[in-house]
Amino acid sequence: MAQLKPGVVSGKDYLTLVAAAKAGGYALPAVNVSSSSTINAVLEAAAKNQADVIIQLSNGGAQFYAGQGMKDGSKAKVLGAVSAAQHVHLLAEHYGVCVVLHTDHANKGLIPWVDALLDHGEAFFKQHGKPLFSSHMLDLSEEPMEFNLSECARVLKRMAPLSMSLEIELGVTGGEEDGIGKEMDESADNSHLYTQPEDVLQAYERLSPIGHFSVAASFGNVHGVYKPGNVQLRPEILKNSQALIEQRHKTAAKPLNLVFHGGSGSEKDKITQAVSYGVFKMNIDTDLQFAYSEAIGKFVTQNPKAFLYQVDPETDKPYKKYYDPRKYLRAAEENMVARLNEAFLDLGSKGKSLAL
Ligand SMILES: [Zn+2]
Repeated sequence: MAQLKPGVVSGKDYLTLVAAAKAGGYALPAVNVSSSSTINAVLEAAAKNQADVIIQLSNGGAQFYAGQGMKDGSKAKVLGAVSAAQHVHLLAEHYGVCVVLHTDHANKGLIPWVDALLDHGEAFFKQHGKPLFSSHMLDLSEEPMEFNLSECARVLKRMAPLSMSLEIELGVTGGEEDGIGKEMDESADNSHLYTQPEDVLQAYERLSPIGHFSVAASFGNVHGVYKPGNVQLRPEILKNSQALIEQRHKTAAKPLNLVFHGGSGSEKDKITQAVSYGVFKMNIDTDLQFAYSEAIGKFVTQNPKAFLYQVDPETDKPYKKYYDPRKYLRAAEENMVARLNEAFLDLGSKGKSLAL
């Protein structure tokens, strides 16, 4: 088994991590974070599971990291992402695991966000000889194919010299996440939720000569957790996309690096199937948001008076030990770690860290 230095991985080491996952038939959870508390919970869970992990920020998560009070919201989205990345660069190696640092969905309106992150990334690369982020995502799946691919090509040309990878999206992931996408209409015709293998082939031909990229192909996956509706997960779309490229370009098996969006609430057997078709990354946001908040809800319910009084008006008992935010935030972190234990097991990545 290849071994890597613990910490943030990029370039060749990133490719080693992806190749090991595909060859080993497992995937890494990609967790959306928005605070140092959630980042630390992910690092803790990865360390406990001896697994490598992907930490990612949406534009909203990045803005929250910088502070909702920052007047210039666009600037906050950039600086928050940079700040979170620096936090991970400093701490990840001390948890003894490999971490991929990534940014989540950027639609057309957020292209300037990605370009601004690359401005910071280029400066960071000059100083440290490695990129600030391992990868970024451009999600132009709602735009015409030609625009999607030409913008992805433009951005990948900027990223390749920094040893960075680009995640693209083909076909639309259903549901809504951080203002991107629409709430599901479960009665609608949902054919746009399924990617065509021919589109994946086109992306492969256009982007693989430029640099490394991965594909979020839609196979009926949905952001958020909904009641089971008329959207069926059809992972065979992933298999067919791999087969088409293999056949056309005489590549080795599973030439594509695939990403599973909307992993929360998915059936376990469909997850296993998708991973066997070359999915190396599964995004989990909603289930972990719930785990984090669920623990806080429980804590408040169990200690209601501590959230009303500093000192109990009847018994004079001081409640400082309960309303100290570290108490309930720690409970939240522990529950997030517990949910991530499950994710590492489901994805087969427990015990598979490549870190020395
Ligand atoms: Zn997504």
